[in-house]
Amino acid sequence: MPIFQNASFYTTVNHLKDLPPTLAEVAFVGRSNAGKSSAINTLTNRTRLAYVSKTPGRTQHINFFDLGNERYLVDLPGYGYAQVPEPVRAHWVELLGRYLATRQSLVGLMLIMDSRHPLKELDWRMLEFFLGTGRPVHILLSKADKLSRQEQAKTLKEVRAELSAYPQVSVQLFSSLKKSGCEEVERVVEGWFGG
Ligand code: GDP
Repeated sequence: MPIFQNASFYTTVNHLKDLPPTLAEVAFVGRSNAGKSSAINTLTNRTRLAYVSKTPGRTQHINFFDLGNERYLVDLPGYGYAQVPEPVRAHWVELLGRYLATRQSLVGLMLIMDSRHPLKELDWRMLEFFLGTGRPVHILLSKADKLSRQEQAKTLKEVRAELSAYPQVSVQLFSSLKKSGCEEVERVVEGWFGG
């Protein structure tokens, strides 16, 4: 049974003190509009599990989805929204940063980047910050259907080359529209969860 197939909504958290105890969890993060919600919906085979919620006031929540066996998928707030009031931005930088730095049960990070604009400054900041924790990162180059085969291969090669100094980072192409790349994500997450 693919690991994401029985996902169900578990809880929404707005403060670190409210984080539920879990055995193991994998977190999804990315710039707003990178395709994170679509990727979660595609992987879980549900159309509205991760609500495509675009209201900046709501973006600071952390959503937990139960995968069974005390394992969870965590939908982190997107970063890089243009129009967000400063107190809201500060709250979510704090929430996100402290979650990523301190969460014991977090086994790995899925970083979603639009394959047409990979490795933006905020993505680098996220990577450098998180790699300091010693945990692995798997990058989904999303919306791969928007690139030709040739462009896909070129982008994958370039992003891998840029990240070659970081052995704990892996990269793949992904398309929610074409539902392509799901098995590769599942293999990585199963590995993180211990097989
Ligand atoms: P989020 O802000 O990172 O959660 O991004 P969304 O999942 O809401 O996606 C942002 C936009 O990109 C939406 O208009 C989606 O329909 C579109 N999108 C997401 N994934 C894909 C994909 O695989 N292919 C294409 N062509 N568009 C996508």
